[in-house]
Amino acid sequence: MSEQPRTVALLGATGSIGTQTLDVLRRERETLTLDAISGGQRVDELIAIAREFSVSRIGVMDAAAAKAVLDELPHADVVVGAEGLGNLAASSDIVLNAVLGFAGLPVTLSALEHGRRLALANKESLIAAAPLVDRVRSVSGAGEIVPVDSEHCAIYQSLAGSAHEVGYPDVRRLLVTASGGPFRGRRAEDLTRVTKQDALNHPTWQMGAKITIDSSTLMNKGLEVLEASALFGIEVDRVDVVVHPQSVVHSMVEFVDGTTMAQLSMPDMRLPIAYALGRPVRFDHAWGSIDFSTALTLTFEPPDREAFPALDLAYAAGRRGGAAPAWLSAANEVAVEAFLAEEIRWCDIVAVVADVLTDYEDDSLGSLEALRDNDARARAKARERITRLRT
Ligand code: NAD
Ligand code: MG
Repeated sequence: MSEQPRTVALLGATGSIGTQTLDVLRRERETLTLDAISGGQRVDELIAIAREFSVSRIGVMDAAAAKAVLDELPHADVVVGAEGLGNLAASSDIVLNAVLGFAGLPVTLSALEHGRRLALANKESLIAAAPLVDRVRSVSGAGEIVPVDSEHCAIYQSLAGSAHEVGYPDVRRLLVTASGGPFRGRRAEDLTRVTKQDALNHPTWQMGAKITIDSSTLMNKGLEVLEASALFGIEVDRVDVVVHPQSVVHSMVEFVDGTTMAQLSMPDMRLPIAYALGRPVRFDHAWGSIDFSTALTLTFEPPDREAFPALDLAYAAGRRGGAAPAWLSAANEVAVEAFLAEEIRWCDIVAVVADVLTDYEDDSLGSLEALRDNDARARAKARERITRLRT
């Protein structure tokens, strides 16, 4: 007897991860049913997805978008804003959080609180809210997190080599791999004049604009160190970064006996997306399988921490804990937006984040209100710095 399909809420359905998730869902109609979607700007695309998958529960950002959806789909159940996102994340079997940035927080918290599987692409919510997420995860009946980020999916799978389920005392370190981005090999002084076009030209991955810029500064890798630490409960100093330009080894786990386990595949986000949706079942469609019949060279090198200071900033924020990672991520979101709007130079992005963090004073992050307050303060400080740079 075949099982009932599991229901999926795909929040951030119109983005890069959202679109690739739809590709997976098109192949898995027998096992997975899309039953809720949300989107930010591209309302027409959202309507098209709702039509294709017969989805009636739809989240939008504002009243104008709600009206646009209802004009086309009068029977839709439309919810608006952050509260709407939280509601959509409460009732499907699996919630794929592909929203961009801190705006994904209500999805992360609601899915876990309601005992749903959280297939997590949105790293910013976990990084900023790690202490709150920990608390929610420790309640009995809370949902589980299965990471979608390719590095964390690789670590998640490689940790099957551990004899433990928490703390991982037999793990020496996690090794997060990095492509190095478009500026690998360049020195700090060669990076003062790079353009938006240069920064958006990622060598191995096609992704949304924000994460592509984060990859060019290596802030994405810094955020991923914090993400790994929060996801697996391993201190940041047991997480290392290795540059691997081919993006085939998606990350590794080194055990105390010298064994290193890794997950390999060609760069294709549909693989970790499918894994996070199906686990423990592996869907019978190979995204990104490797062709070993032709020559394939894999290389590894240490990151250049001088040219890419974002990495050490992220480690420092992780060691400090509390709201420091929330400040780092919030200031970075604001600085990347300003860079994409061509208000600041590429090298100003990380300089703004570093400058904002000098104002950080320890904050234990005991509540959601405290987190929102910290997020708002870090954003305001980043905007101040950006205004100063422009005048
Ligand atoms: P994207 O910009 O392509 O898409 C983001 C989605 O979120 C869109 O549907 C957009 O409409 C929606 N959105 C944006 N701002 C919103 C807001 N304020 N409120 C509600 N919805 C909003 O981004 P992406 O590249 O798909 O990345 C999504 C998340 O996945 C990010 O956290 C990113 O770090 C993570 N991620 C992406 C990739 C990738 O390959 N693209 C890989 C790993 C992790
Ligand atoms: Mg990644």
